[in-house]
Amino acid sequence: MTGSFGCVTLASRNAGKLRELRALAGERLALELPPDDAPSVIEDGESYLANARLKACSMARHTQGWALADDSGLEVDALGGGPGIHSARYGGPGLDDVGRCAHLLVALGEGGGRSARFRCVLVLAHPDGRERVAEGTLEGAIAHSASGQGGFGYDPVFEAAKLGGRSLGLVAPEEKAAISHRAVAMRALLSALES
Ligand code: IMP
Repeated sequence: MTGSFGCVTLASRNAGKLRELRALAGERLALELPPDDAPSVIEDGESYLANARLKACSMARHTQGWALADDSGLEVDALGGGPGIHSARYGGPGLDDVGRCAHLLVALGEGGGRSARFRCVLVLAHPDGRERVAEGTLEGAIAHSASGQGGFGYDPVFEAAKLGGRSLGLVAPEEKAAISHRAVAMRALLSALES
């Protein structure tokens, strides 16, 4: 069944996401990098699903073929589930990943109650309106300081419960790929395509 999708264009410019999605899909779904002339999308949806759909549909219209988008974020219980869909811009537009992690650590202070999760929604869309959706989560907690250089985004401050509380910044890409929110969503998507 996956073979019938031919080439699928990734609707993202986030290098970390692109690397992970291509590794997770492997040879089961041929994921192409986005073309240079792809239009940029204003992610003004009110949910991960709405934003993933905006990105996937925009790319599908542009390429006139299948497109895959990931919308994801970090949900911290002590911040009422934030930054959530605003994770990429948390703390303001001038911050990079390191700055956003530092901003989060300051916002949480030294207190307890640091439970958190990553959430990912994948949308595979075609310009004729066909669509597949999959979701994944990864439970954990926010560390008291950043550790490791691996991964991207909030990985250095996220301690994954399934990894015994180790920071995602410290683990090998294969270890993250075995348990991550993106991996869970990709596995669900691939099995839906094969059924
Ligand atoms: P968006 O889906 O483009 O809105 O961006 C999601 C943002 O959530 C990213 O820019 C990261 O800051 C964060 N994020 C999503 N997935 C991960 C992950 O696997 N590790 C670390 N940060 C992530």
